[in-house]
Amino acid sequence: PPPPPPPPPSFFFQAHPANRDPLWSRGLGDVYKRQDIDCIKMAAKRVVAAYNSGNQMVVVVSAMAGVTNNLIELTEQVNGIFDVREYDVILSSGEQTNAGLMALAIQDLGIQARSWLGWQLPIKTDSKYGRARITEIDISEIKKRIENNEVAIVPGFQGLSKENRITTLGRGGSDLTAVAIAGALNADRCEIYTDVDGIYTCDPRIVSKAKKLDKVTYEEMLELASQGARVLLSLIHISEPTRPERSGGGGVWVVKKRG
Ligand code: ASP
Ligand code: MG
Repeated sequence: PPPPPPPPPSFFFQAHPANRDPLWSRGLGDVYKRQDIDCIKMAAKRVVAAYNSGNQMVVVVSAMAGVTNNLIELTEQVNGIFDVREYDVILSSGEQTNAGLMALAIQDLGIQARSWLGWQLPIKTDSKYGRARITEIDISEIKKRIENNEVAIVPGFQGLSKENRITTLGRGGSDLTAVAIAGALNADRCEIYTDVDGIYTCDPRIVSKAKKLDKVTYEEMLELASQGARVLLSLIHISEPTRPERSGGGGVWVVKKRG
């Protein structure tokens, strides 16, 4: 018989497993709610559905709702003299937790999955701790695994500096990780599921004529991002927070090419 057809294009997915309702994020005890796990399970189901229809999957996860804010609060409680390198060690932990949880949730659905931390790949960055820029991504391990039919889970927001220390990419930086990895792998698709309704030409809170983009290319996205670590964040407008399960596949398409 003829050899099986090559696997269909890779497919990328960023799960933002919960929304950012400030009411959810009041003290640490409040942070890990049942809903968060439900959201992760829901996101895992979507990943597995896409995997089962023949896609190679890399999942980039963000932290749970309110977790990053809480971690910042903790650093502030410990000391006012701020060592931003330690701040990054602390802040990156929200994504670490979710990477492992996502791997477990996918395994629970019968699919092989494993997670890496940013430094293990590594995702190399410059040394601007707290808002580092990605300089290089080693995708060899990810590639090997997805070719071996595993789902690869990567925490967003994390990197490794030349000094061999953990960096973070600035608030909202998981989106950058997703786009950068999709670009490095030359993926056919990068889907970002997040608690915002789209990417705008400029901040719609400030410019009323801001246009919402249906599609943006990796190149355009990285170009936007290269204008400053916060550009991506300011381009994104939080109007009606949508959760993955509510958005019904809506969101932003980040594509290789327009057309
Ligand atoms: N967890 C980080 C933040 O809250 C990164 C992200 O959400 O993309 O900024
Ligand atoms: Mg986020």
